[in-house]
Amino acid sequence: MNRKTFLKSLALLPLAGSTMRLQDLNKMTQPFTSTQKMPVLFLGHGSPMNAIEENEFVTGFRNVAKEIPKPQAILCVSAHWETRGTYVTAMENPVTIHDFGGFPKELFEVQYPAPGSPELASETKDIIKKTEVHLDEKWGLDHGAWSVIKHLYPNADVPVIQLSLDYYQTPQYHYELAGELASLREKGVLIIGSGNMVHNLREVSWKHLDKVYAFDWALEASDKMKQFILNDDHKSLINYTSHGKAYSLAVPSPEHYLPLLYTLALKDKGDTVSLFNDKPVAGALTMTSVKIDTQ
Ligand code: ZN
Repeated sequence: MNRKTFLKSLALLPLAGSTMRLQDLNKMTQPFTSTQKMPVLFLGHGSPMNAIEENEFVTGFRNVAKEIPKPQAILCVSAHWETRGTYVTAMENPVTIHDFGGFPKELFEVQYPAPGSPELASETKDIIKKTEVHLDEKWGLDHGAWSVIKHLYPNADVPVIQLSLDYYQTPQYHYELAGELASLREKGVLIIGSGNMVHNLREVSWKHLDKVYAFDWALEASDKMKQFILNDDHKSLINYTSHGKAYSLAVPSPEHYLPLLYTLALKDKGDTVSLFNDKPVAGALTMTSVKIDTQ
């Protein structure tokens, strides 16, 4: 029986007084069943133009989708949704948000009509104990989510929800909250952090915008980050303000860096970690992306 039929037949039953709450109904209709453990990704999204360009990074996104099982749903933590408190998108059909300016019309015309998943939103709210998660009906998919997910699943046939970044919390807090999402990996949910490890728009070299190019400080910080990631030194990654000038230039504000912590917090003992799209662009950005997998 599919969910719709089930709900219909439920409506025909006599009302069970006040004993059945909406919450119970959600649990009964929960479509997320046990699966093999899903990988976890961090995707360096870079310029929104990656949504419509053909380049090696886009190829990297497509390739990673081919390497992993097709998910039942995606939960994305994007650098571009910061809130006071924690929210999860809960609408049936999230809109495509064009949250940028000064780009060609073609980019503003992109639509990514992946469905949402109120069921996954409600499950996410239930499993996070660290804070009260609010169900959101107003956001949608920002470019941190759709500009990369569209390359992984171009048919927009995998439901996507977003979890916001609470602007007022510490990196340690975000890391701990992320750990509470672990059970979703067993339910066919692909968790994606979308940001950029090195991301300093003020320092971007506009003449190198489309070029593989890095300033010395960007390379230095990037090398340090990669070393921490590959050594499972999450503590050093969390304490990102204590690694000197190059690191501070690479992470002038936390929002593009924090999604990396969400991904790494979900790494279990025995999981492998690998890097892809590991290149700098425009001097002050890196596209370096991370795959955590079970083998
Ligand atoms: Zn961004």
